[in-house]
Amino acid sequence: MPNEHLQAAAKHRLTALFGGTFDPIHYGHLKPVTAMAQEVGLQNVTLLPNHVPPHRPQPEANAQQRLTMVELAIAGNPLFSVDERELHRTTPSYTIDTLIEVRQERGVGAPLAFIIGQDSLLTLHKWHRWEEILHYCHLLVCARPGYSDRLDTPELQNWLEQHRVYDAQQLSQQPHGCIYLADTPLLAISATDIRQRRHQGISCDDLLPRAVQRYIELQGLYR
Ligand code: ATP
Repeated sequence: MPNEHLQAAAKHRLTALFGGTFDPIHYGHLKPVTAMAQEVGLQNVTLLPNHVPPHRPQPEANAQQRLTMVELAIAGNPLFSVDERELHRTTPSYTIDTLIEVRQERGVGAPLAFIIGQDSLLTLHKWHRWEEILHYCHLLVCARPGYSDRLDTPELQNWLEQHRVYDAQQLSQQPHGCIYLADTPLLAISATDIRQRRHQGISCDDLLPRAVQRYIELQGLYR
């Protein structure tokens, strides 16, 4: 393919960000997002470990440990990369601020998405400047067991109905503004459960990658 055609195609390639505390990262993050990537044709997903402001309940693992676990979990997997920008912030960081920055970096026309789980969709109206999120990206929602697909607040429900698309191709045809609920595999895994299992000495095999498990052991995390 001639170079200018490759560049034009790359311009319209959908990429996504996936934010989380990742305390620790687990298969409930990695497997649904991998399935999402296949379903909507994502070439790259950038994991964004959150900076947790001091006035919030703190993660048990520190920022460096959470970052290392993410790096171990995605090592050798070409779908994923990691962006440390939120970890380096000293002030409270909001998703909207990161989205504004990333949008500036990638240009106005590049299709960009932010991935969340169904539980996050249910409380999205509590996010800072939540209604502006779609000005900068699409929202891709992974299914998560145990969380209703009914949104309690009419405000959020109306917003979803206004912006929801059912055809994943639309996500590459416009840079932002759509919400897509994907039929991703249901994994009943949470970081809270993993931490509790560790506290109780119960095995976490099959819940997270082996390299992450080994690191948790070595660092004596979640005891
Ligand atoms: P915790 O139990 O500590 O609250 P968590 O397991 O929910 O953590 P987070 O790092 O808070 O993980 O989640 C980051 C993102 O991943 C959120 O958008 C969340 O909805 C999504 N997510 C987490 N676990 C799952 C899962 N099992 N299935 C689908 N989405 C998930």
